[in-house]
Amino acid sequence: MTQSRNLGFIGLGSMGSAMAPQLLKNGHAVIAYDIHGAAREDFAAAGGLTGDSVAEVGDRSEIVFTSLPSPQIVRDVAAELAETRVRIMVDLSTVGSRASMDATIALAGRDKGFADAPVSGGRAGALAGRLTLMLAALPAVQEEVAPLLSHFGKVIPVGARPGQAQTMKLINNIMSVVALAATSEGMAMGVKAGLDPRVMLDVLNVSSGQNSATKDKFPRAVVPRTFDFGFATGLSLKDVRLCLDEAQALGVPMMLGNLAKTMLDITAAQFGPDADFTMMARVVEQWAGVEIG
Ligand code: NAD
Repeated sequence: MTQSRNLGFIGLGSMGSAMAPQLLKNGHAVIAYDIHGAAREDFAAAGGLTGDSVAEVGDRSEIVFTSLPSPQIVRDVAAELAETRVRIMVDLSTVGSRASMDATIALAGRDKGFADAPVSGGRAGALAGRLTLMLAALPAVQEEVAPLLSHFGKVIPVGARPGQAQTMKLINNIMSVVALAATSEGMAMGVKAGLDPRVMLDVLNVSSGQNSATKDKFPRAVVPRTFDFGFATGLSLKDVRLCLDEAQALGVPMMLGNLAKTMLDITAAQFGPDADFTMMARVVEQWAGVEIG
């Protein structure tokens, strides 16, 4: 077990509400804040302390973790934390490398450290303490935060420059959406041609077409028609937009990435941004006039 620390946690949403209790379970004192009172009450019921503001959490913690929905909110929270007694901010959100760099600059101006540690594995992985965490920070900061991050899952250091882990995370997410789009098309085609979708997945999962959609999203959320994989179309669009912006800034073509974004745009227009992103399969189904299931 790591030494017990005074930690803060800001953003108790789908991910944060599953991650912050892991720190409690591992013997740390945790004070948390979310703009929603109900989220704070749930954390208090789980045995945590709650604060009334970002500033209060920053003043009462050595290290603060954040799990927030947008780049601008991460920038704003970093600016607020810079004015508190906290030493290090560790951002677990997916917000792109520019937000991480802005947060680093805001905190460095007050002699504080920043680490970006975006996660993959969804709420189920967060509840089980089995996420994958990509970590980028200066070596001294990495050394201090990696043992704490290991309470959430497997930590993979990817670089010394904050923002590098964000870039890694965005690459993963756009590849996963491209796979979801390609799998939706292939599965709709097979079903329309009379193939059984379960048999198709059996074949694909031992063949070269296998991917995260054939292995997980389709068997779990599309073929059983639950569409409850647990990731909203709007959040996926945010990630894909951030990735396309970074790719463009680097001068890297992302033709398939742009097509995947169009598929997400249509999914959001048709079913709303809160709809699970596996609903993309229904867009293809409607067009093709078949149901994969
Ligand atoms: P969410 O919208 O459920 O949670 C965000 C929380 O932040 C909400 O409870 C909201 O009230 C709170 N919040 C917003 N502004 C705040 C502020 N100024 N101060 C304090 N709290 C504030 O989102 P989520 O699904 O938990 O995702 C959080 C981050 O993790 C996002 O960046 C997302 O892209 C990333 N992520 C999500 C998943 C997933 O499966 N849901 C997986 C990996 C990464």
